[in-house]
Amino acid sequence: MKPVSIKKIGTITDGPLSPNEINDLVPLPPPYDRVEEQPGWKKLTKEQEESYACDLDGVTGLSLPKPKDAAEEKRVVEQFVSGLKKLLSSENNWTFLQPLTLTIDYCARCQTCSGACPVYESSGGNEIYRPTYRSEVFRRLVKKYTKTGGELFAKLRLEDIDLNWTTISRLYELSYRCTMCRRCAQACPMGLDNALVTHELRKLFSQELGWAPRELHEKGTVQQLAVGSSTGMKPAVVKENVSFLDEDMSEELGIKIETPWDVAGADVLLIHNAGEILAWPENPAAFAIILNAAGIKWTLSSEAPAYDGVNYGLFYDDFQLARIVTRHMEAAKRLGVKKVIMGECGHQHKAMMTIADRILTGDLNIPRESSITFLEDIVASGRLTLDPARNDFPVTLHDPCNIVRNLGIVEPQRRIIRKICPRFREMTPHGVDNYCCGGGSGMALMSQNNFKDWRVSVSGRKKFRQILDAFADCPGPEVKKYICAPCSNCKGCLLYTSDAADE
Ligand code: SF4
Ligand code: SF4
Repeated sequence: MKPVSIKKIGTITDGPLSPNEINDLVPLPPPYDRVEEQPGWKKLTKEQEESYACDLDGVTGLSLPKPKDAAEEKRVVEQFVSGLKKLLSSENNWTFLQPLTLTIDYCARCQTCSGACPVYESSGGNEIYRPTYRSEVFRRLVKKYTKTGGELFAKLRLEDIDLNWTTISRLYELSYRCTMCRRCAQACPMGLDNALVTHELRKLFSQELGWAPRELHEKGTVQQLAVGSSTGMKPAVVKENVSFLDEDMSEELGIKIETPWDVAGADVLLIHNAGEILAWPENPAAFAIILNAAGIKWTLSSEAPAYDGVNYGLFYDDFQLARIVTRHMEAAKRLGVKKVIMGECGHQHKAMMTIADRILTGDLNIPRESSITFLEDIVASGRLTLDPARNDFPVTLHDPCNIVRNLGIVEPQRRIIRKICPRFREMTPHGVDNYCCGGGSGMALMSQNNFKDWRVSVSGRKKFRQILDAFADCPGPEVKKYICAPCSNCKGCLLYTSDAADE
């Protein structure tokens, strides 16, 4: 464990707050554990070594332009304090005020959450990744700069933290070194949510200071609201792509595949993560085959942005989230569909099903269901002819945090897999205790500086170990192995991890 006290966040300014190096990380089995003593070890390049680090030195991760002078630093501090106050007011924080104040007031400092956090564990117990580290900094700043804080909290004697550029930029960086997997929240005996503190910090930075990673903001929500999809696909392009897809897949599989568009009054509007259409075309094609075979009256929408279920606002900005989800539901309302089905995208599930419940009112509150439970009903109905003998290979299942831990959809996907994959095996742990793919909370999309490598080396390390362990009885490339990962972002992250491991 690397000791670093909370109040040092703003005082150590001449170097990293707490360096993370390869030998700090939890070991992986050979040949992936490339520490010197292990067989198969090969020397890392300087560049590779740096990819493990996130030292909160203001250089390694999310780059921000430093204030030019004291006056500019003062303005940043004032904006941050103004944002803190807004987070604690009911007029401004209409989404998460209550769970936030409970989390601020009632921490018993028992550290049960630290034992549950894959980032903290993978980093070798580096204090800066302890779930309570950023929460405690946040808590003390709230105490210092606002009148609120609750009775219990007010009785605690807390050290002051310097509030300066160093503290603020490190907090910004730290808020993007958490996958918001909420494993810590699930473990907390008081029901407190350190992932929410991460989220609220991101929200403050976005709404008050205009700071957000470009992958989530400019190329994410802004692009989606402007053109319809964070992939950049406009309605005509998405329709053309799916039409090519239908043709290609029909030819390849020898069955007619036809995707219906804009069917008024359809029973079901399916909203895919549009990334699937570009990166994993088998997925939308499989949905078309299954829904047609099951005789479902379904449709896709070509109205922007209802052909792309992603909503990166979930990760950093409630207003962006609300703008996107409202437009999704307005399109569904115009079509007059009875139900909206989430595609295979974990954060879409959370945005459109869980959080949107606080946003969608009246006739925009159209019933919404996960594609997983929807598909299970189809499979259970016996309307499909299944041939498990064709799937004679080892398969394991990844549980996307937003679908499984957040929504509690645990068994339906297993009931489907058990019916079609005789060699299915679980990871340990699994279900609501699963580990994040490493790319949760938007990290799967982020590529600035060392983010891509850091998520392979640190935030995705526990998942990587789980996958290796699940297939320990059939190592090597000779046996084809499959990971079922019903979330677009998880798939992207796992793919990058396995490519990096191959290298
Ligand atoms: S588990 Fe809950 S109460 Fe215990 S330290 Fe973590 S947040 Fe605080
Ligand atoms: S949300 Fe996940 S990554 Fe973030 S502090 Fe909690 S357990 Fe760790």
